[in-house]
Amino acid sequence: MDVNIINGRVWINGNLEEANISINNGKISKLTNKENIQEADETIDAKENIVFPGFVDVHTHLRDSEFSYKEDFDSGTKAAIAGGFTTILDMPNTNPPITNVAELNNRQKRANNNIFCNVGFYCSPVNANDINELKISNAIGYKIYLHKPFPDQDLSDKNLIEIMYKIKENNGILAIHAEDHNWFDGIIHTNEAEIKAIKRITDLAKLTKCKIHFVHVSTKEGLGIIKQNKKELDVSCEATPHHTILNTDKIKGREYYCEPPLRDKENQESILNSIIEGDIDMIATDHAPHSIQDKKEGKPGFSGLEITAPLIIDLYKKDKITLKRIYEILVWNPIMRFGIKNRGKIKEGYIADLVVFDENKEQIINVNKFFSKGKNSPFDGMKITGSITKTIVNGKMVFDGKNIINSGMGKVLQNQLDF
Ligand SMILES: [Zn+2]
Repeated sequence: MDVNIINGRVWINGNLEEANISINNGKISKLTNKENIQEADETIDAKENIVFPGFVDVHTHLRDSEFSYKEDFDSGTKAAIAGGFTTILDMPNTNPPITNVAELNNRQKRANNNIFCNVGFYCSPVNANDINELKISNAIGYKIYLHKPFPDQDLSDKNLIEIMYKIKENNGILAIHAEDHNWFDGIIHTNEAEIKAIKRITDLAKLTKCKIHFVHVSTKEGLGIIKQNKKELDVSCEATPHHTILNTDKIKGREYYCEPPLRDKENQESILNSIIEGDIDMIATDHAPHSIQDKKEGKPGFSGLEITAPLIIDLYKKDKITLKRIYEILVWNPIMRFGIKNRGKIKEGYIADLVVFDENKEQIINVNKFFSKGKNSPFDGMKITGSITKTIVNGKMVFDGKNIINSGMGKVLQNQLDF
């Protein structure tokens, strides 16, 4: 054996069990009790903490390239493993943007050997005819920003329908930033802007039957439309920790700006309840790092990779959410929805992507301790219960609760992997 993980409370088949995990060649090779454990080169002591399949984030902005001053592959994927994420999906609104096969291949090549966790790459297609080849090039999903198209990206119904038919034909998934700028009130991103955009896309999905994923849903009414259509359409949605936990009744100000913006208490509570009850399929960080200066100038979003899972564990400690639900929203639903192979279970034969967390360890969120270059968070200074104590990627421990200890373990995700 290469590695044994001992003394953990291990998430197996929906329960916590006292089991030892043996890892060989990056895969889980055996689950045993103490008596039957075989010798290994390395032993990791989980110290009675919870051992879970590694968390998966379907919405990360790793930046890099021209935006490396905000974040790069190195700092972004270090932030991911420090937050317990073993797989993340990278958004295409980089500079240059990922809108074609050449840029997608370039980005994957640059990431290779330079990432600490597994990364899948989205592409934002300008042309429906590119989609066959994008799939072959391992685009993990397709992303459209309805309010901010890329140059030459025609988002008329006609073109969107063509794109959706092609994605459907390739059994892909279309992630939508649902805001319609015609409904903005000056610079204000209104609730209506989100509601109208969700309505428009669900109507187009009825026609095309394309698989849709709505990113960062923030309004009760928008969510209501998704809920109504879940039986008829292949549709899912995510929420961010900030839209789930924070509202404008409590905090206001430029430093809290994101898109869509934080909403009032009624909307926020409906997001939280839908996370708990299951109408929202997953939590996603929308990790959007910025320099201090960019944030001062009003750039939207915050760093989220290092705090999202601890914030959800804090909800568990407050008896608001179950461990089963945490598994669904941070592991299994993202994996199933985006077709990620061979990961997400602690089971013999699965790839050993694991996270160990201490659900009783308190921490005060401190942006200055982030591995991310983006030292911004509306949660800065908040005291929560829940800490990541170890992260294991592809069979190797990469984070020990304090430090990054192994580099280059991450892989670029491919659509087809051997099992
Ligand atoms: Zn985003």
